Amino acid sequence: MYIDFYKGIPKGCEICLKGAKLVLFITGLCKKNCYYCPLSEEKRGKDVIYANELLIRNDLEILLEGKAINAEGTGITGGDPLLRLNRTLKYIKMLKDFFGKNHHIHLYTNGMYANSEVILNLKKVGLDEIRFHTMNEIKSIELAKDIGLSVGVEIPAIPNEEDRIKKLALYLNKIGVEFLNINQLEFSSTNFLQLKERGFEIEGNNAVKGSEDLAIKIIKWAEDEGLELKIHYCSISKKDGVQYKMRIVRRRNNVIRLYEEALEDGLIGKFVLETKENPHYIRKKLIKELKIKPNMIGISRDGKNIEISRNLINEVKKLIPNVKIKYIKELPTAIREKIEEINIQKNEEEQQFHQD
Ligand code: SF4
Repeated sequence: MYIDFYKGIPKGCEICLKGAKLVLFITGLCKKNCYYCPLSEEKRGKDVIYANELLIRNDLEILLEGKAINAEGTGITGGDPLLRLNRTLKYIKMLKDFFGKNHHIHLYTNGMYANSEVILNLKKVGLDEIRFHTMNEIKSIELAKDIGLSVGVEIPAIPNEEDRIKKLALYLNKIGVEFLNINQLEFSSTNFLQLKERGFEIEGNNAVKGSEDLAIKIIKWAEDEGLELKIHYCSISKKDGVQYKMRIVRRRNNVIRLYEEALEDGLIGKFVLETKENPHYIRKKLIKELKIKPNMIGISRDGKNIEISRNLINEVKKLIPNVKIKYIKELPTAIREKIEEINIQKNEEEQQFHQD
């Protein structure tokens, strides 16, 4: 077991590890063009807004998504949010007004457009922490520090960049930057060729070989050097296996409906009736015939099917003999991605699908 931080972890990361961070993607626009950029095709270069997995069409959706995970903080990311400064300022103010001043907000930027006026405006509307994901924009980092924001730098652990990262850490330590976050470098569908062309190899969970070793080496080195700077390593497994899962469980606990079942890993399970008749008509009929409360039966997101609780399945079969029944497992995200679909046979097979 390795130690993945030195001198503690930043406040924004603490919230993230609890699954209590709303990820607000402000825009996919960015002028930096890093070869390792992991942004997906749907986001890269596109001026789109996402709150967690949800494509945002109006401001209210951002607040609702925050409520759905009981957000204690927000990480504003992109692209470069500073390319859409007014939007960024508006949302920082909106989140602080709605969730209260203790709602911790940190913002990621490549620093290219972080001049003193911009940083002052960010501070004025309530930004708590700024994270530069760059090794170059030293002037912007110094400015943010002088203006009094909590300042950190967050970079990937690129295996052939050991000397540069150490040099950066020494400088950040000297000017009193609060923390350096080092992320495990990850292959994605969009950076795969670029990383391969540069000779990087894949290992384990889409990680770049040698990235984790370097991050751990830097942490040990910082300890030997006695740096004041906090250094925190965020691995892919921590990002996906801890942060994401914790957020999913939090969301599930808030959004699960009465007729749905809580499964392991934050998933939701439910029975779905496929009928050729109008589902709204069938739903009304079932409410009446089964004498159940309306919240014990729902209509699917696509409006085509009926969703119902396990204990009503046998009754439903008697009332609608030819109905097709499925058991669906899905993520509790706003878009409810389907993970598994099981066809239930007429001969009572659903009895074997016990709640996990
Ligand atoms: S600065 Fe960030 S968003 Fe921009 S290209 Fe680099 S990794 Fe991608």
